[in-house]
Amino acid sequence: MAPELMEVSFGRQGQPPPSTDQWLEFSREQQTVRISGRIDRVDTGIVAGHSVFNVLDYKTGGSIKLTPESITAGLALQPPLYALAVMELLLVDRDLYPWQAGYWYVSEGGFRPRQALRMYRNDEGRIELEPGWEQLRATLGDTVVSLVHAIRRGQFPVVSADEHCTGHCPFSTICRINQVRSLEKTCQPTASE
Ligand code: SF4
Repeated sequence: MAPELMEVSFGRQGQPPPSTDQWLEFSREQQTVRISGRIDRVDTGIVAGHSVFNVLDYKTGGSIKLTPESITAGLALQPPLYALAVMELLLVDRDLYPWQAGYWYVSEGGFRPRQALRMYRNDEGRIELEPGWEQLRATLGDTVVSLVHAIRRGQFPVVSADEHCTGHCPFSTICRINQVRSLEKTCQPTASE
């Protein structure tokens, strides 16, 4: 794999090619969401005779678990959305397979393939679709639209997936998480009403 595109954008006006002003669009039940973004880096290469690409996002902070669960929960949408943008907007005429999408940890050793989202795999010389990616791709639009719908309705629940966040977060005395936890309320940000 070798870098081919750097800081390429989609859905933003006035950017020179290969950026595009076309956005990713998802529509569900009279709700339309348009996504724009700027992708740090796209690598391309050949695997088992097929052209493939990786999407990389430079990250200076701590690591993020990139699992089907975290993506479906709306916690790590950027890599799969950027992969879709490359497939459907930026390199749409190249017939490339999306290979991996993930973070490049600037101060902690770069790309971690084992933490990346895998979309296809090399199965003894054959390129095979990862079933998890097929399922994610089918539900990604639902996840995005439900999250944006909740934001448009002003739903900003107090919730943290880190059970011990109050032990190290400076906002623990003002964010009401202790009160919410004492009531044993639960929140599923992407759950539809
Ligand atoms: S203490 Fe409150 S503000 Fe800090 S991470 Fe936890 S929920 Fe978020």
